[in-house]
Amino acid sequence: MTKQEKQTIKEKIENDICILTEQIGDLEEKVKPISPDCGLGRLTRLEAMGEQHVNNKVLDEARVRLTRLNNALQRIDKPMFGICIECEESIGVGRMSVRPESVRCVECAN
Ligand SMILES: [Zn+2]
Repeated sequence: MTKQEKQTIKEKIENDICILTEQIGDLEEKVKPISPDCGLGRLTRLEAMGEQHVNNKVLDEARVRLTRLNNALQRIDKPMFGICIECEESIGVGRMSVRPESVRCVECAN
């Protein structure tokens, strides 16, 4: 991986962290408890609860990815960045550009 490639990936990580942080903020607003007397009909309330369930799931996933991206940002200047933790081969710039939080190559991830 060249210095330039690392720089591009670093910018992508920082950009993704920014987007995710914003999404998490929005989702945290949406998953606040639904007040029992907020004037919704029964069906609407069930729908709202279903939606909340989905949002909670998305929120969990977003938080996990955010942690991984922050870890990737701390690893990026170290020699092990872009090296598979299983087979110790290079993960490949293509994969690292799409999923910079990867710690395994495509083969080991499957
Ligand atoms: Zn591997």
